[in-house]
Amino acid sequence: MTIPTATDVLVVGGGPAGSLLGCLLARRGIEVLLVEKQTHLDRDFRGETLAAPSVVTLRKLGFGPALRAHGYLETSGVTMRMEGRQVFGVDYSRFPIGALPIDIPQPALIGIFNDAARNLPNFTYLGGTTFTRLVESDGVVRGAALRQKDGAVVEVRARIVIGADGRFSKVRRASGLAADIQPMARDFLSFKLPRPPKWGNGAELIVDRDKHLVVLPTFPDWLRIGHNMPKGGYGELRKNGFDVFKAGISRLDARLAPLVDAHLRSWDDTGFLEIFTAEMPQWARDGLLLIGDASHTATPILGQGVNLAIQDTVCLAPLLAARLAQGSPGDVIPATAFTDFVATRHAHKSLVTRFQRMQEKSLTARTPAATALRRARFRLLDRLPLKYRVFGKVINMPHAVDPVDVRTTPTDVPTPTR
Ligand SMILES: Cc1cc2nc3c(=O)[nH]c(=O)nc-3n(C[C@H](O)[C@H](O)[C@H](O)COP(=O)(O)OP(=O)(O)OC[C@H]3O[C@@H](n4cnc5c(N)ncnc54)[C@H](O)[C@@H]3O)c2cc1C
Repeated sequence: MTIPTATDVLVVGGGPAGSLLGCLLARRGIEVLLVEKQTHLDRDFRGETLAAPSVVTLRKLGFGPALRAHGYLETSGVTMRMEGRQVFGVDYSRFPIGALPIDIPQPALIGIFNDAARNLPNFTYLGGTTFTRLVESDGVVRGAALRQKDGAVVEVRARIVIGADGRFSKVRRASGLAADIQPMARDFLSFKLPRPPKWGNGAELIVDRDKHLVVLPTFPDWLRIGHNMPKGGYGELRKNGFDVFKAGISRLDARLAPLVDAHLRSWDDTGFLEIFTAEMPQWARDGLLLIGDASHTATPILGQGVNLAIQDTVCLAPLLAARLAQGSPGDVIPATAFTDFVATRHAHKSLVTRFQRMQEKSLTARTPAATALRRARFRLLDRLPLKYRVFGKVINMPHAVDPVDVRTTPTDVPTPTR
């Protein structure tokens, strides 16, 4: 497919943020070009937990039947075990928001958004197309240069370029906007194991001093497991050998030992995740806006990345549609149009990051005194009804915009093919 040389909205990156935004704008009749560097949607070890407010939002946007047709797993709650003792638990059904968090593979979620937009005449999706640089004049972003699969580079003019190209965003770097990138003390290695039939649907955090596992029941019949390691410790871990790594997992959770023995064969069965946060005071320039991980990378704690990306999109779609309707065709959208949007979304991301940092800090405790104090704190919090208020504030923050206002065509979401 040839690249159009001009469009209203150029979205770079077909992850959850970019693909949902492309779909919502195209439904409103706006001309959208969505470019994604990958030629396929396959992505493993990626955000598969969708927080409950996003489930509510996607249902209101008309995606409920497509989600059900694909299938997903509802997460019943979360428990925390420390040095062999259960210290904390939250039952998600006690939050009165009408949905549980769900687990659905990211390719399926993105596929549902793309399928909903695919046949709209004003929507173009180009896979295998990579953003290389911004096109600018007089300090204003006018479009971007895109490299196609065959190596040809094409310049596309747009009234607004949306950088939704994830945690290592090239659009962010090209924009010159300042980003505060803070490495966390730990990195992660993720892997999947078959889920035993009677395992249950609750997420678990299993902690032993400064080591821990996150165990997430995953659709359709997997356990997704994250194993922490000190920052920069991946080389050391590999030097010690795969068997030592496997033994470490089994020591942390003996239930996993037979699964690890039977199903983890080599480092190729694992995925490395470098953990850092990115904070940006400004997300916009004239003609450019960053959303999703590109503007605010969070840590994986509590699985909020996709939720934040979806909330950005739902807030942005009506605002962008209104601005595009103003002015003449070809007018660039100024950065000032996004001041309130950035303030609102920044506040939400900051709340999530503050909580994640507190949690990260508590997970680094290793001395007997520090771990005993940590256990006592979580036990105390567990007994207080307040825990539902504290936890709910972080994971269930309602969307700032009612999704019903975003939805323009109620029944255009096709059922996905698996
Ligand atoms: C291992 C792991 C586990 C995670 N677990 C969870 C979880 O359970 N729940 C949760 O909510 N979040 C989780 N996250 C975070 C979540 O995946 C992200 O927050 C979310 O995907 C962000 O969406 P996004 O659309 O902003 O960016 P991304 O999903 O990163 O999408 C960006 C897209 O841009 C494309 N792209 C990049 N560069 C270019 C370019 N130059 N040109 C064109 N396209 C480009 C990429 O190929 C990609 O498709 C996890 C992340 C990781 C890495």
